[in-house]
Amino acid sequence: MRVVFYLFVPFYLLFALEVQIPRDTLSNGRTAIIFLKKEAGVKFVKLVDGKRSYKLFEHPNDVSKMYALLPQNYYNKPAKHKTILVYTKNHQKLQKELLFHVVDGKYAKETIHVQKSKVNPKSKTVKNRTQKEYAEAMKIYATVTPQNYVTSPFIVPLQSKITSAFGKARVYNDTLKGYHSGTDFRAKIGTPIVASNDGKVVLVQNRFYSGNSIIIDHGQGIYTCYYHLSVFKVKKGEMVKKGQILGLSGDTGRITGPHLHFSARVGGLQVDPLQLVALLNKNLYGETK
Ligand SMILES: [Zn+2]
Repeated sequence: MRVVFYLFVPFYLLFALEVQIPRDTLSNGRTAIIFLKKEAGVKFVKLVDGKRSYKLFEHPNDVSKMYALLPQNYYNKPAKHKTILVYTKNHQKLQKELLFHVVDGKYAKETIHVQKSKVNPKSKTVKNRTQKEYAEAMKIYATVTPQNYVTSPFIVPLQSKITSAFGKARVYNDTLKGYHSGTDFRAKIGTPIVASNDGKVVLVQNRFYSGNSIIIDHGQGIYTCYYHLSVFKVKKGEMVKKGQILGLSGDTGRITGPHLHFSARVGGLQVDPLQLVALLNKNLYGETK
């Protein structure tokens, strides 16, 4: 995919901080990465992006740099997009404006037919359940673990055909119900599903929509999710290694057939998991293609 990425650095700043942004995807539903060169007396505080803010972390493979991930909401429209870098220089609080051009992710549309009872859950019990599950998940995603559990490139949770890409606009029984929040891999029931990278298992639960679900915290605001499983092989709170079997694929939850739904969150936002994996591997973990 051809990617356009612009950065305009204002010239009126007193201090010329060195900001690097690799030419990478900055479109709705995707994640950009920002590098900042460490400087004597300078402390980077956060990136402020509208109502959201993101922390800056040590580059895992370059002691001279800090990095921050900048995920873009799926519903963001293509436009110039402003992010504020807040930092201190010799204890003086300063900020720097970073201006990007966000391009359209050009996602496809798909129509899905499922049982009516699962499209518009009317029962109070179901409503209460899905609201509770949503709140629990949001609480997890909003938690930014300062440490980085990851030391090497991410992998995909199984080698299989992708049956539905991230971001497809989804129409259920003629009603627009949002977009596909992850990447679906073909997986017959019982296929081993492995951890994309090292991390901590923070959720092992049967949920209404996603069925038997596992969420892994990789640290520094990065989470990966594995849905519709038939069998769990790990427990909540457990530390897992990349490639470790988390469970077996299945057909639990709101689903039209067995498959694995793999998704990711960065700084609380749902993003394209495969683009995130490629971005992190290329920019932080030195994977060459
Ligand atoms: Zn899916």
